[in-house]
This record gives sequence, C-alpha cells and structure tokens, in this order.
Amino acid sequence: MAADQPYERRQKYVSGLLIRVIVCIVFGTVFAINCYLASSDPARLQFAYGIALLVILCALNWPFWLLGKARHFPLTDFYVHWAIDLMGVTILLHLLGGVDLPYGSVGYMIMILTSAVFLSQGASFAIATASAVCFDMLVLAEANGISRHYVGIWQHHYTNAVQVFIIVASNVFFFLFAYLAGSLAQQLKTANAALSRTRDELEVYSRRLEDRVRDRTAALERRNTEIEEFVHIVTHDLRNVSVGASEVARRLIGSEGGTLSARGRRYASHLLEDTRNMNVMLSNLLALFRVDNDRGRLEPVDLSSLVGEVVKAKEQQIAEKGINIIVGDLPRVMAPPVQMRHVIANLLGNAIKYTGDKPAPEIIVDCREEPSAFTVCVADNGIGISPGQHERIFNLYHRGPDQNVAGVYQEGEGVGLAITKRIVERWGGTIWVASELHRGSRFYFRWPKGEAIAGETDLAR
Ligand code: ADP
Repeated sequence: MAADQPYERRQKYVSGLLIRVIVCIVFGTVFAINCYLASSDPARLQFAYGIALLVILCALNWPFWLLGKARHFPLTDFYVHWAIDLMGVTILLHLLGGVDLPYGSVGYMIMILTSAVFLSQGASFAIATASAVCFDMLVLAEANGISRHYVGIWQHHYTNAVQVFIIVASNVFFFLFAYLAGSLAQQLKTANAALSRTRDELEVYSRRLEDRVRDRTAALERRNTEIEEFVHIVTHDLRNVSVGASEVARRLIGSEGGTLSARGRRYASHLLEDTRNMNVMLSNLLALFRVDNDRGRLEPVDLSSLVGEVVKAKEQQIAEKGINIIVGDLPRVMAPPVQMRHVIANLLGNAIKYTGDKPAPEIIVDCREEPSAFTVCVADNGIGISPGQHERIFNLYHRGPDQNVAGVYQEGEGVGLAITKRIVERWGGTIWVASELHRGSRFYFRWPKGEAIAGETDLAR
C-alpha cells in the first residue's frame, strides 16, 4: 500500500467511492420495488426508511471525497467508510427482513471483497470480524425481541438452536470468504508486480538494444564513409592512369604508327579503345560520387532555357532523325543548376537516342504544377520499354535488352538514369516511367518547390 503512487492511490480511492454509489443504487432499487409491493403501511414505512438511509449513505460520498482530497487520498480512510457502511448494511438488513432475508450477507461480502482488493488480506479479516459482530448482534436483537420489523420474507420462526447455527454458519462463512478473497487478491497483486517487473526489464532491455543498434549504425556509417572515400580516391587515381595509358596508345597509333608492325598497330588501337571505355566508366563513377558528396547550391533554374540548350547541343542528331520536339510551358524551379542540367540532358538525350524507329518521331516536354511540386514529363514515341524493365533501368550499369533503333545499335553505359534518380531523390523528388515496348515512353519526375525543397536541403546538410 505504501508503495502506491499518488495517482494510483487516487484511482483506488475514486473506485472505492464509485462502488459505494453503485451498491447504494442497487440496494435503493431493491428497496423501492419492495416499497411499491409492500402489503402493509408499516412495512412500506420500513422500506421508506431504508431508501432514506441509502440516500444518506450515498450522499456521504461527498464529504468522504473532500476529506480524502484534502489528505491526498489515504486508503486507510476506507476503514472509516466501512465502519459507517457496516452499521448501515446491518440496519438495512434489519429493515429488509432481518435474518430471514435470503442473501442478506451480500452487503457485508462486498465490503470484505473490496477491503481485500484495495488493502490487504489482514484488512479483509478485520472487516469480516466487524461484519460477524454486526450480524451476530442483529440476530441476537431479533431473537430476543429487542428489534422488530414488519417485513416477513419467509415468515420463519427460528428456534434457539437454529439461531445459534445461523450465527456460527454466517461467521464461518464471513471468515472463509475473507480468506479466499484475500488470497486471490494477494495472488493477483503478486502476478501484477511480476508483470510490471518484467515490463520494466523489457523496457531496459529494449533501450539497451536501441543504444546498441544506434552505435552499430553509427559505426557502419563511419565505415561506409571511409570505404566511399577510399573508392573515390582509387577511382580518381585509376582515371589518371587510364587517361595516361590512352594518351600513350594514341601516340603509338599516331606519331609512332609508322614504326609499328600491322599487328602492333592493331594491338595499340585495341589498347586505345579499351582505355577510352575505361575512362568513360571511371568518369561515370566519379559523376555518381559527385552527386552523393557535392550537394550543389539551390538556385532558380529556368527549365525552358535548359531544354533549349540541350536541344541545341543535340541539333544534328535531331535533324538526322527528323524528330519534332514540342516544348510546353516550363517553370523556373529551385535546383542545383549542374545537377538539374544532368537530369534534363539525360531524359531528353535518351528520348532522342531511343526515338526514330517509326515515321514522324516526336518528343514532348511538358510540366504539370501541383501545390507543392512540379511534375515534369519527357515523352517520346520511340522504341519503348517493356514493363519488366521499368524499375531496373534506374539501376546502375543496367541497360534495357533492346538497344536497336531502326537497326542501329545505341551505345551507352547504363549510368545516366541511375544518376538522374539519385539527384531527384536527394532533393525530395520521385522519378518513374510509363511505357510499353514499341509504343514510346513517358518519363516523369516530381520536383518539390519552395519550402519543401528548402526542408530537404536542411535535412541533407
Ligand atoms: P544508357 O542510355 O547509357 O544505356 P541510361 O541509364 O540513361 O543509360 O538508360 C538506361 C536504359 O534505359 C537504357 O539502356 C534503355 O534501355 C532504357 N531507356 C532509357 N530511356 C529510354 C527511352 N526514352 N526509351 C527507351 N528506352 C529507354
């Protein structure tokens, strides 16, 4: 009891008072029905006394509450409540028909039970003793004609031996009930305590686990950064070496070409091609690192001008294929200019590259404005992409299985879209494709505007 927290004590106190109210209402109903059905005026009056007594007992809750509140709800107050209630129950029992009343001991049992639940087994024995005393006194008073009641339930006339039996049996019953209620309540409390101990242990354990996961994650992130830095440096150095090697191969073919045998020249040109491929691959890798490490600064970028620049840079290819390019209203967005340039150049470049297999090739660049973002669409009527490839083409080094446009194989490394996706997602956007094989492709990317993207920047830094 001493270990109860103030909040729990208050809860128990309130529950105790609530039980009193409920019991008063139930008993009040019983009395009211009996009052209504009573066969004589004295009996009716007796039931009316009972109702009045119940109203007083119920009204006592108010001073009980005020007193409890002033004293921080000590549960020992219940002894005072029960002392008053025991007298009340005894009088009510008398008014309802005395020891003739079937289940007359229910009123006492409620108190024995609540004392076991709210206080202890000791308290329930104390209440059982007090109940036995009250009940015995009532039996004796009735048996000896000290008290009179006008309500006959069974109309029994008990002999002395039966009166003694009633007293003994009731007292045994009260104590047995107190013992059972106390034991059960005790077991419940022990189980509860074990449960809350386990819960506390679990909380400690899960907190430790969280700490450990956090530490491990931090260690992994550190390790990851180290590895990334290492790979970055190695890639950089490798590219220097491969640039040097391709320069040597170029000179071998060029100025020294005359001194080489035909086989030597063939080897040198293989070397040149391989080193050039290697250069491209390493440059792509470095570009990817740049997206991850160099966030760039947000500036207003005019998408119309950007599209115009890319179209201009690719005008020869566009003219050769006879592609009709339609550019809708494009907004100015807040973006890192170099990275946004990559996104537009990649999507538009791919549209140009993978179009031209059918007559009247066409590309449409358009934009839809939403409250918090712009959704830009680059659509073409080229070779299209089968649905099974829609996710995979955004993976690093993945190229679609069909690379022929009008019988011409399209060169590429499968890196551009991976970088584009990384850029878009880093700034809080999303990118996806809608396409079917031979029926053109529509690439969409959603770019957050204003405050949304500023939030992303803060997060990323
Ligand atoms: P690359 O174009 O160098 O292969 P990307 O990463 O830019 O690399 O594209 C990956 C793959 O996505 C391409 O190989 C191609 O199969 C597919 N793809 C991209 N854009 C289109 C498009 N507009 N039409 C058809 N296929 C496309």
